[in-house]
Amino acid sequence: MSQKNTHFAVWMVCIILLAAFVGFVLVDSNPIQRGNPSAVTATHNSPRGSKVRPTDSSQAVSEGGSPATSRPNPRAPRPIGIMQAHELFDLMKSSPDSIASITIFNGSDRITLLRSDNGNRYYVTLPERGGTEAVIALAQEKSIAWKAETDSTATLRGFFFSFGPFLILGGILVFFWYRNRQGGAAGGPGGMGFAKSRATDHDAEGADVRKVTFNDVAGCDEAIKEMRRIARGLRRRKLYAFFGAKLPKGIILEGPPGTGKTLLARALAGETDGTFSSTSGSDFVEMFVGVGASRVRDTFEKGRKKVKETGKPHIIFIDEIDAVGGKRGGGTGESSNSEREQTLNAILVEMDGMKNNEGLILVAATNRADMLDNALLRPGRFDSQITVDLPNKEGRSAIFAIHTRKKPLAENISCDLLAARSYGYSGAEIEGACNRAALLAAERYGADIPEDASEAEIEAALRKAGAVISLADFDEGVDFVRFGSADPAKQKAMAEDDKRNTAVHEAGHACVSDVMPGADPVVKITIMNRSKALGYVQNMPSDDRYGLTDEQIIARMVTCMAGRAAQEVILGKSDTGAANDFEQASQYAYNMVTRWGMSRLGHISVGRGGTGMRGMSGSGPIANYGPGLADRIDDEWMRIVEECYKMARAIVEKDRTRIEALAKTLLEKETVLGDEWNAFTAQNPSRVDKNSLSFDPAAPEGGKE
Ligand code: ADP
Repeated sequence: MSQKNTHFAVWMVCIILLAAFVGFVLVDSNPIQRGNPSAVTATHNSPRGSKVRPTDSSQAVSEGGSPATSRPNPRAPRPIGIMQAHELFDLMKSSPDSIASITIFNGSDRITLLRSDNGNRYYVTLPERGGTEAVIALAQEKSIAWKAETDSTATLRGFFFSFGPFLILGGILVFFWYRNRQGGAAGGPGGMGFAKSRATDHDAEGADVRKVTFNDVAGCDEAIKEMRRIARGLRRRKLYAFFGAKLPKGIILEGPPGTGKTLLARALAGETDGTFSSTSGSDFVEMFVGVGASRVRDTFEKGRKKVKETGKPHIIFIDEIDAVGGKRGGGTGESSNSEREQTLNAILVEMDGMKNNEGLILVAATNRADMLDNALLRPGRFDSQITVDLPNKEGRSAIFAIHTRKKPLAENISCDLLAARSYGYSGAEIEGACNRAALLAAERYGADIPEDASEAEIEAALRKAGAVISLADFDEGVDFVRFGSADPAKQKAMAEDDKRNTAVHEAGHACVSDVMPGADPVVKITIMNRSKALGYVQNMPSDDRYGLTDEQIIARMVTCMAGRAAQEVILGKSDTGAANDFEQASQYAYNMVTRWGMSRLGHISVGRGGTGMRGMSGSGPIANYGPGLADRIDDEWMRIVEECYKMARAIVEKDRTRIEALAKTLLEKETVLGDEWNAFTAQNPSRVDKNSLSFDPAAPEGGKE
């Protein structure tokens, strides 16, 4: 049988088994639609007055000695209704003449009744105990014709009820076994393919073949430099081998999401003319122990094969390696733990089996290298660790240059300007902003071009209009990636009350930030409704920050608390809009106490939370501080947050008129930008004495704060 036919046959067997079972269940549960029993094996015609005894149905002998009819009568009336048992007995007693015949099914508590007065047939369900015997006795007494039949479906039903679930289970197992074999035969992760690698080959035919090089990456100069060095080594492995220089088997790229880790790994393949496959740590973690390990083996095997076939380097990229390479001994579920450990062991074994200059190289990405198991970081495995940070202003400018390479830009746009407006943005966010800007420009110019215009006509129209992406498009693109799309319709529909709430909240943030020492300058305040925020205040430092002082952190925290403080003081109410502010402020305060040594608890670092991954023992997570310190930590970070709120409230009370004036402007204009803001602050100076605004969270109780 051809493979196709076997496939078809297996499918059919599974479907038939399932259909048969479902069919019988349905048949049993819906007797009204079933009609006559399919096989009649015994008939007891009891002419009035004669004594009739039921016989074993298998003997199929009638009272008269003639063989019983064993075929259903196709013209017999179909059952049209259900009669209750007590109605049957009443009928049998009061008017036996109206009953033409009664059919009893052996082994069932159901009978059918054919009436002679209207020719209709009824189903009757008898009491389980003694019901049938009572009917027979009464039929004999009243000389009503009755017959016993064997319902062959009952036997089959019994069979299916007993064995059906096993048959279905068997069918499912056969199905999966077959599909697994299919996957194996195809050599890919087809079918169930549990054990097969899930890595995507980016050099396979028809797949993404665009060659990425280091010219496509910017903003992480150190990482690029390091990767270039490795690329040089991979290209000329012989040269390095001559000197006994070992190229790394594994590279860990550590950094926040969207900073270009995947891009760097692809560029490594591009620069070395090699091949590239990518997968994610979570692809290895399955419910079944051992599956991840065999996927790891398969991934490496394929990589080695690629190197052998092409003679060129092959890069295996594993994103989110922490999903599988986290420190061992923690976690909860036993099975997920042993699965993770087995998978991690498989990676370690495979890496140990790698030869340094063979051309196969593993690049793994993570946000937290400190969470990785030490065994992974041991020399000889992932022996190269490269940090890929968020880009600084110069880096952002270079990334903008990459992503605007093929885009027509307005003359007043420079990459430096765009970089200044996108503080803290990652490469991926910058790419997103550029793309959004391009989409907006296309929509704007597209509005004047007829739908049915040809490509040549579109090109001519764009050239004639001098179509370019404007600075406003980029501004919108930058806001879009952080705060979502603006929704003017929703803005219009918003209740006046909600608008005023938002305006007061944002005005509170802006005015308090304006007076706090160490706060970054305000560049934009808006109450324009976006999908991720009702409004926001943008603070932007003139230069990139590489660290924060306690003064700057306190300024940020007080600013966070100012939105709620303004609502309470000016509107006398609070709403849900401050959740994100509180989250940020709490996070800052917690870090000040537990990591940055900026509190009364002194210069300590106690990891991230009491039951974090640090200080893990083989038997499970343990905190590296006791419950006594845990309580003090909680008291301390909550005290700092509360002090910040008090300070915010004091400023709001002093500058109430100023905040109300800004809220009014926001309600009129929706957005206030840098220059307008400067004009506003000049016209509405603060009444707060800035020198009074200092709070040192580490100062001892009763000391100067
Ligand atoms: P990560 O792997 O760090 O999460 P990616 O490499 O997947 O980030 O980045 C997604 C996309 O964002 C890239 O394909 C690229 O277009 C853009 N990008 C991210 N970082 C950079 C960068 N440093 N230089 C240029 N483009 C970048």
